[in-house]
Amino acid sequence: MTLYYNHALTPLFTPEAISARVTELGAEISSHYRGLLPEGDTLLVVGVLNGAFVFMADLIRALTVPLEIDFIRLSSYMDNQTSASKVVMLKDLERNAKDRHILVVEDIADCGLTLNWLLGYLKSREPSSVKLAVAIDKKARREYPIALDYVAFEVDDGFLVGYGLDSARRYREFPAIYSLDDEK
Ligand code: 5GP
Ligand code: MG
Repeated sequence: MTLYYNHALTPLFTPEAISARVTELGAEISSHYRGLLPEGDTLLVVGVLNGAFVFMADLIRALTVPLEIDFIRLSSYMDNQTSASKVVMLKDLERNAKDRHILVVEDIADCGLTLNWLLGYLKSREPSSVKLAVAIDKKARREYPIALDYVAFEVDDGFLVGYGLDSARRYREFPAIYSLDDEK
């Protein structure tokens, strides 16, 4: 356990463990798309900003099928008037998703709101297929239905930082994944 500012960081996944798991996932994903992609076509890998950028950078280098990248930026918030959770798009895709095979890359699936919204949005763009890859699955916290196709690690609970994940914009550059607790 290491203390930074007023936070206690407990390492959960080392850079070595992450790298080994991402290599495995890359092989699994590549074998799915190999043969499925029409000749001359590319996989469209869509990263969800900001948290997914580190995982996405590693994952695409573990893929052995031709690909293009694009990013979307989403933010979820609680609407005080309706007490409903909402998702807003802060940055749209730049590529046309129609008739493309899409692999969404996200940092964490938590309650599932963000990915549930994103799946609906992407499907309205008429892609050939959509699959979801996440670095972390907090399965026990799911409230919205989503089917994850590729998961690097599962955790029960806790707030995680590092490997692209932040707390108040800090810790994204840390190469390991930590669980963060406020120092008592
Ligand atoms: P969901 O819509 O599934 O509840 O939330 C997913 C988003 O919440 C993730 O994309 C991530 O940005 C954020 N999030 C959920 N859990 C954590 C966590 O443990 N650490 C960090 N840094 N972000 C989280
Ligand atoms: Mg996110």
